[in-house]
Amino acid sequence: MDKILCGVDIGGTKLSVALMTTAGEIIEKCIDCDHVLKSECGLTDQVKFNIRRLLKNNGFKESDLLGIGMGCAGHIRFRDGVIITTSNLKGYKCYPLRDAMQLSFKVPVILDNDANAQAFGEFRFGAGRGFNDMVFLTISTGIGAGIIINRKLYRGMTGTAGEFGHTIIEPGSDLTCTCGNKGCLMAVACGMALPNLFRKKINSGMISTLDLPADYDYSKVDGKLIKKGLDLDDPVSMEIVLDSGRYLGIALYNIFQALNPPLIVLGGGLLSWGEIYLAQIRKVFYELARDMMHDPIEIRVSEIGPDAGVIGAASLVLEQC
Ligand SMILES: [Zn+2]
Repeated sequence: MDKILCGVDIGGTKLSVALMTTAGEIIEKCIDCDHVLKSECGLTDQVKFNIRRLLKNNGFKESDLLGIGMGCAGHIRFRDGVIITTSNLKGYKCYPLRDAMQLSFKVPVILDNDANAQAFGEFRFGAGRGFNDMVFLTISTGIGAGIIINRKLYRGMTGTAGEFGHTIIEPGSDLTCTCGNKGCLMAVACGMALPNLFRKKINSGMISTLDLPADYDYSKVDGKLIKKGLDLDDPVSMEIVLDSGRYLGIALYNIFQALNPPLIVLGGGLLSWGEIYLAQIRKVFYELARDMMHDPIEIRVSEIGPDAGVIGAASLVLEQC
């Protein structure tokens, strides 16, 4: 019988565990939402329990697994399998999650950053199929990325390579990033930037046709509201999408100059803004790259869909084969 993979995606709201074939098809998946406040040991036990339950439910043994891949947001010291820091969970400073899991399983356990995991999933099973090199960017509440060079993730010295969200894109900006710097790509062009961007437009005198109450709390502005605004031709929402697209176009241009990849794949919730957003990203990118681009570079949208987290995590096992 063919071996199977196990993927674990530890997110800020959901803990997903899935069994998957080596062709990328999910056999069974379970999702918990009560993991965030658990202790490190509590969460590790929950993951182990879920893996064993899924194996039993489907008539598999641990020896049927090729390995267990885990994705977690934050800074991961890949070679040691340690979570250096994560904002999704309480505690977990320098927590050796990989070893804590490995104590209970004989098959290899791999732990990496969730964006790296998604990048590798996209490379094996999505928009990256057929390429040897690519860069993946996920644009949601924050911005994560993964770099694939010669069919392997490039992780850098510590494991934190590809943090394009913290590259500074607007040095004069008054918008502060979660890292404390001003003008990071994440501070000006992702979900967490939207309340500030919206407030700034309103304060500058623009009028939104979104029909929000006078005492509306702008900290609630999210990608869904902006999408609604786009559908209603709201000028504030439209400008925010075009501004965000421009910053992303600049970011892609910087990535192109640094790595010259043949493919950049974009994923994440804000892609639901649709063609206006994507067209702006592409337009700004191609205007900047101009005649410095000697071979075509493709900018594609992620193809994996809502299970990208667990599929990516499981695919990490294949990187090691
Ligand atoms: Zn930053």
